Amino acid sequence: MSGTIETLNPATGRRISTYEAWDTERIETAVARAHAASRAWAMVPVTERAAHADRLARTLREHKDHLAALAVAEMGKPVGEAEAEVEKSAVTAEYYARQGPGILADERVEVDGAEAWVAYEPAGLVLAVMPWNFPVWQVMRFAIPSLVAGNGVLLKHASNVTGSALALRDLFVAAGFPAHLVTTLVIADGDVPEVIARLIEDDRVAAVTLTGSNRAGAAVGSAAGRAAKKSVLELGGSDAFVVLGDADVEAAATAAVRARFTNSGQSCVCAKRFIVTASVADAFTAAFVAGVEALRVGDPRERQTQVGPLARDDLRAAIQRQVEKSVAAGARLLTGGEPLPGDGWFYRPTVLADTGPGMPAFDEETFGPLAAIALAQDDEDAVRLANATAYGLGLSVWTADPGRGVALARRITSGAAFVNAIVASDPRLPFGGTKRSGYGRELAAVGIREFTNTRTYWVT
Ligand code: NDP
Repeated sequence: MSGTIETLNPATGRRISTYEAWDTERIETAVARAHAASRAWAMVPVTERAAHADRLARTLREHKDHLAALAVAEMGKPVGEAEAEVEKSAVTAEYYARQGPGILADERVEVDGAEAWVAYEPAGLVLAVMPWNFPVWQVMRFAIPSLVAGNGVLLKHASNVTGSALALRDLFVAAGFPAHLVTTLVIADGDVPEVIARLIEDDRVAAVTLTGSNRAGAAVGSAAGRAAKKSVLELGGSDAFVVLGDADVEAAATAAVRARFTNSGQSCVCAKRFIVTASVADAFTAAFVAGVEALRVGDPRERQTQVGPLARDDLRAAIQRQVEKSVAAGARLLTGGEPLPGDGWFYRPTVLADTGPGMPAFDEETFGPLAAIALAQDDEDAVRLANATAYGLGLSVWTADPGRGVALARRITSGAAFVNAIVASDPRLPFGGTKRSGYGRELAAVGIREFTNTRTYWVT
C-alpha cells in the first residue's frame, strides 16, 4: 500500500504536483485521531458548533482566490464558476449557522404519564467519498451540516483534486475547528476500493456518504449494507429538460445552454436530455445551437471563458465514444462532435438531434459538453421520454402555464422538479435522487438530520 498521486492540469496536460500516498499505519493514526476528535466534538453545545460554521463562512471568503485557483488548475473549471462555488459554500455555512440549532432542537411529544421527546444527536465519525467536479462545494455541502450536527468528517476526495482536498482540511483548522475533526486521507488510486471498504467496516466509522459514479456508489453502498451502516449516495443523473409547445422558446433555449454547459457539462444536475415538443422543435433547436456555438471555450483562468477542458483525458474519451455510438445509432450531429486540437482535454460543445432510447447520449449519463435533443409528439410522449432513464435526479419543465408544468412534473420521477427554472441546489431545499441517482438527501433540515441519531426519550 501507498505510492504517489500525481495531479495534472487539464488545460495543458502538464503535471501540477506529486503527493506521497499514505501507508496503512498513517491511515490508522489518522482514523484514531479523527475518532477521538469527533467524540469530543459531540459534547460541544450545538450553538457553539453553529458559531464555528459562521467563522467558516468568513474563512471561505478570505481564501476564495486561493481555493478557486486550485480548482481551476486541478479540474479546469472556469474561474468565475470556481469563485461561485466557494461563495455558495459560505452561504451554506451561514444558513446552518443560523438554522442548525433550531433544526436540531429537541421535539416534545405529548404522551400519557411521562415526558417524551425526540433528540437529534451526533452520529459520530462519517466517511465522505467525494468527486472532483465541484472540489469545494461537494465537500462543503456534506461537511458543514455534518459538523454542525456534531460529527467528525473523514474525507476521501477524488485523487485529481488532492491539492484542494488538503487545502480544505487546512481551511477548517483556520476557521477554528479542532485539529483532526476534518481529516483528509491521501490514498493511492489502486488502494481506494480496499481502503474504503475497510474503513466502512471499522467500528470507529459510523456512516458513509458518497457523491460520484454508480460504480463507486455500488461499492460503497454494498459495503455499508454488509456493515449495517447508514449511507447516503448521490450518484449520476440524466436530467430531462422538457420544452412544452406553449413555452417561451427563446428563454428556454437560453436557459438550456446554461443548464447543459455549466461546469463544462460536468455536473450531476446539468440538463442532459432536451425533450422538445414537435411544434416548437425547429425554433428551439435553432436558438439552442446558436447559443452553443457562441460559447467561448478556452483557458479556464480567463474570465471570459465559459467552457473549460474536461477534467481528465479518459472523461473526454468517454464523451467521444458516446457521440460516435449515438451517431452510429441514428442521432444527427448538429454541432461539435470532436476534441479541440492542441494541448489539454478540450471538447467542442456538441449537440445531437433525433436521439432516443437505445443511444448512449440518451441512456447513459453524459458528463461533459454534450446535449441530446429528443422529439416529443405531445405532453404524454414527453412524460414517456423523460421517464425512459435509469436515473432520477432533477427535472426542468418549460411552459407558459406553471400549473401544467407542475402537473406534468408529478408524472415524472425525480428528486427535484423545477418549472421555468434551471435545476440547482440551494441550502434551504433538500437535494438528492431517486432510481439509480441514489438515495438520501443533502442540505436543508432533512440533510442535516441524515447523519444524526434520531433518539427517543421517555422519562417518568
Ligand atoms: P468515481 O465515482 O470513480 O469517483 C468519485 C469518488 O469515488 C472519488 O473520490 C474516487 O476516488 C472514489 N472511488 C472510485 N472508486 C471507488 C470504490 N470502488 N470505492 C470507493 N470509492 C471509490 O467517478 P469518476 O471520477 O471516475 O467519474 C466517472 C463518472 O462518474 C463521470 O463520468 C460521471 O458520469 C460520474 N460522476 C458523477 C458525479 C456526481 O456529481 N454525481 C461526480 C463525478 C463523477 P479516486 O478519485 O481516487 O478514484
